Amino acid sequence: MSDTSANLSGDAILAEAGFFPAKEVIALASAQVMSVKNLLDRVPKRYEDRRRFDTFPTQASSEPVCLRGLVTDAGRKFFGRGGMYEVVVQASNEVGFGENSITCRWFNAPYISKILAVGMELILYGKPKDVSGKLVIDHPEFEVIKAGDGNRASVHVERIVPVYKNISGISQRRLREMVYTLLENVDPETLSGEFTVDESYPRIDAYREVHFPNEMEQVEAARRYFALEEFVQLQLEVGRRRKRYQQVKGRVQGMKMDLLREFYESLPFDLTGAQKRCVKEIISDMRSELPMNRMLQGDVGSGKTFVALCAALLAVNSGAQVALMAPTQILAEQHYLTFRKWLDPLEVRVGLLTSDRSEEGDITWSRKPQIVIGTHALLFNDEIFDDLGLVIIDEQHKFGVEQRAKLVKKGVMPDVLVMTATPIPRTLTLTIYGDLDVSIIDELPSGRGEIVTGVRKKPKVTEVTKFLKEKLADGRQVYIVYPLVEESENLKAEAATVEVEKWQKRLSKYQVGIVHGKMNAAEKDRVMTEFRANDIQVLVATSVIEVGVDVPNANVMLIYDAERFGLSQLHQLRGRIGRGEHKSYCVLMTKAPNPEALEKLQVLADTRDGFKISEADLRMRGPGDVLGTEQSGLADMRFIEYLADMELIREARRITEDILSKET
Ligand code: ADP
Ligand code: MG
Repeated sequence: MSDTSANLSGDAILAEAGFFPAKEVIALASAQVMSVKNLLDRVPKRYEDRRRFDTFPTQASSEPVCLRGLVTDAGRKFFGRGGMYEVVVQASNEVGFGENSITCRWFNAPYISKILAVGMELILYGKPKDVSGKLVIDHPEFEVIKAGDGNRASVHVERIVPVYKNISGISQRRLREMVYTLLENVDPETLSGEFTVDESYPRIDAYREVHFPNEMEQVEAARRYFALEEFVQLQLEVGRRRKRYQQVKGRVQGMKMDLLREFYESLPFDLTGAQKRCVKEIISDMRSELPMNRMLQGDVGSGKTFVALCAALLAVNSGAQVALMAPTQILAEQHYLTFRKWLDPLEVRVGLLTSDRSEEGDITWSRKPQIVIGTHALLFNDEIFDDLGLVIIDEQHKFGVEQRAKLVKKGVMPDVLVMTATPIPRTLTLTIYGDLDVSIIDELPSGRGEIVTGVRKKPKVTEVTKFLKEKLADGRQVYIVYPLVEESENLKAEAATVEVEKWQKRLSKYQVGIVHGKMNAAEKDRVMTEFRANDIQVLVATSVIEVGVDVPNANVMLIYDAERFGLSQLHQLRGRIGRGEHKSYCVLMTKAPNPEALEKLQVLADTRDGFKISEADLRMRGPGDVLGTEQSGLADMRFIEYLADMELIREARRITEDILSKET
């Protein structure tokens, strides 16, 4: 590629640049591609090395193959009620059929007959399988090679070609041509951003190599370059935020300790060493003039709530109000009950504020609550806070940055404590949460019973029932969890309702209840209260019980279709049991035949260590899915998979610190 006619700006709007027809510009726009850079920033999802193709396969394979061949037969076949279009492709430059041909099938895709015909040359990509002795690829990705493709310095053959995520209305072939055109015409000077991560590697080269590499090593280098840019960007934002905090004067609170002391003495247990250390770190933050910005990490059941209680009492003792925001109604209510239990005796006024309910404590007070616990509803109340001095956010990764900021703005420089039960590897913490100090509760309270975790493929209902009856006869309680897919919430809720009736019949001596996301707050609350009081012994639930629910007498959890949950989520769910002194049982049930699902579930059976589980989860699903895309900047990241690359993160830190040190 040459730079000769490089007069197009990277920021040019495609609609105005005049390179592509209006119809295509509209199709691009509907995929949020507006500018030259937008299109260049869409890096290929994979590549095909069209300098050489795979030889035609002779057997099924779990790896996709990339083939080049001629269409020798094409036609519609009848298949059940829907139509099927079948195309036989024969290896180019070969004579005869047999091993050198493969059949491609499309079901219910009549448009294929308009695109493919005998005599065309195709590039195919897909997994060959064996259908009664015939090798077949169903719905392959394909591209028709045009006459003349091989003659000029082609964009489409005789090279490594990019394959992009589809944009509806634009073919792969056309997309590739468009990117090629832009790369030829864009002015390299207009491509650079706010900073440069590698002086010796012009950005235009990175773009060229990521789209049209000569060798695959170039792709890796270019991707690392863009990943590095992305991490620096992320860390710059975080670093600037941290700098801003450090320039303002916060509150000095936590000098008075009598409430904390009184609370501490009322506890029937001593705090664990880790809890004490975290409380100390919080005290010193709150006393400092700098605003506290601390993240409390601790596995499920490690006792974060008690650390939060201590922090809250310090603020209250200094005359300020405290807000505790939780992501779900159930969790907010659970916290509310815990706080009331310990703080009513101290005459601290605790209130609850959710969209469904608001409640004052039993103590009649004419003044505003000192501690307000709630859900997102807290963000929309302007009256309840006179002087908000401490903001606590539970399960912080369920909230976006803006939501956190909105709550913080309700006070004047309040101290901030965010809590998470998802243990996060240190590289990640530094990158995404570099603006937060971190306290870790790395110790579980003593006296916790063991949890035995087993994976069961298609267990028999009679056996499961027998097992449950045994545990119930011992006086214990049981969770039965069904997965819930967001889109079909109503349908699944119904399915769970049907299951409840079945379980009630099987376990007729006991009370079976249900809680799911479609119930209103009052209903949920009633069921949870009954379960806590052991008026209900078996709770059929969706993942709404994932966080916070604390019923120590429940020591059995069955999870159906367990493979549908993420590892971290399963770990959270399992954290509901093993809370009392009794030995607990978690049974992960699955009908999924694939080995990955079993491997995933086995991780849980093998360990209870949250860090190990979250690392496995990150490896299997990637940071975006594990931490939630609400996370600071994660949603927009294209190279998120490199977040596990320690070396790259360190490099990004070095560059970021260099940039920050030059800013005032
Ligand atoms: P987390 O919020 O981290 O999941 P919680 O604060 O809800 O954990 O505590 C889990 C359970 O452990 C609660 O039943 C709580 O009463 C109990 N607990 C917390 N800290 C201690 C401790 N130091 N010793 C004994 N039990 C504790
Ligand atoms: Mg402070």
